[in-house]
Amino acid sequence: MTHAPLPGPIDPPARLLMGPGPISAYPSVLRAMSAPLVGQYDPFMTATMTETQELYRGVWSTRNEATVLVDGTSRAGIEAAITSLVRPGERVLVPVFGRFGHLLAEIARRAMAEVHTIEVPWGQVFTPSAIEEAVARVRPHLLALVQGDTSTTMNQPLDEIGAICARHGALFYTDATASLGGNDFEADAWGLDAATAGLQKCLGGPSGSSPITLSDRAVEVVVARKSIEAGIREDGDPDAADFVRSNYFDLGQILDYWGPRRLNHHTEATSMLYGARECARVLLAEGRDAVIDRHRLAGAAMLAGVRALGLEVFGDVAHKMHNVVAVEIPDGVPGDAARTVLLEDFGIEIGTSFGPLHGRVWRIGTMGYNARQDAVLTTLAALEAVLRRFGAKVPVAGGVEAAADVYRAAA
Ligand SMILES: *Cc1c(COP(=O)(O)O)cnc(C)c1O
Repeated sequence: MTHAPLPGPIDPPARLLMGPGPISAYPSVLRAMSAPLVGQYDPFMTATMTETQELYRGVWSTRNEATVLVDGTSRAGIEAAITSLVRPGERVLVPVFGRFGHLLAEIARRAMAEVHTIEVPWGQVFTPSAIEEAVARVRPHLLALVQGDTSTTMNQPLDEIGAICARHGALFYTDATASLGGNDFEADAWGLDAATAGLQKCLGGPSGSSPITLSDRAVEVVVARKSIEAGIREDGDPDAADFVRSNYFDLGQILDYWGPRRLNHHTEATSMLYGARECARVLLAEGRDAVIDRHRLAGAAMLAGVRALGLEVFGDVAHKMHNVVAVEIPDGVPGDAARTVLLEDFGIEIGTSFGPLHGRVWRIGTMGYNARQDAVLTTLAALEAVLRRFGAKVPVAGGVEAAADVYRAAA
């Protein structure tokens, strides 16, 4: 029997990740993740879990006791929230303005909800009145709405939606994976019942942990559903029983593990916990508003830069997230080949696109650790060189100068 030669230790190439996520992690997050492991119920471990909960209350801007991590990538948080909050047959309304709205609808369908959607064209957001009209018509148990959809770069305003849900008796859930940490977010002030995220966008970590926060009202719903035995016993009929059809994503049980009783559920992913803790810690150490401002500035500089290179920006720019921009690929430039040159010759990754935008736009992110002047300027310089290599007419140093001007004006 022959074997392939034994590979060497992992040795990734140097990359500047300037796509829509994942992005280059804060160095201190990577260091935190290499810290030694402790046992599941070591006092250090449980204290670190408690500390991490409090840090994320700061990140979410909430007093919710039920602020924890779900182990897994962002969609683990989405799946836990929807599967635990929605009983089969209950109505869920999903306003869809990009790819991730379709994902919320799909996950709600798998939870056997009665799913209703409304849509706006890609590149737009919903008005509060359009959402209220649909909520009044559908009367959903849950409104599931993405905040920032990286597929279109749009940032759906949420500040008026909580009051709409409260008026109509709906729970209000948002997927803030792409937006949290780089754009305003106020879980309590906006009346959210549930919100989930991931680390690999503005929070500046790797994918693999999903912060989640639940209001007291949401906790009542998930706790009422947590016991499979109670569900069967009360009802006799397991199909009609109330329990969550997932063990891993049963938020009632996950909260019991994070709560004072520390009831065993999964084994909290220790290295991810360290990483998630550090993501929140660096954000709060710099200051939540300062971090959002840093994203606002990097986004404004990148926007000015790509425009000065003569590129058209996709979508309603007034509602763009700070941390990502979609630019039209100029006629005659092969989008994927240009991205390959950026990666191979410059070590810079930018994003392609999905669905109706595939082949039409690149998505360029300025998130977390990479929401920095040097990362913005380096990316624009490389993009200019690559555009010229593929025959596009671009002004010399136009992008870099325009972006540097934005930084100079802010200094
Ligand atoms: C990037 C992104 C995700 C990613 O989900 P993963 O499971 O971490 O890949 C989810 N939702 C939104 C809105 C995103 O932008």
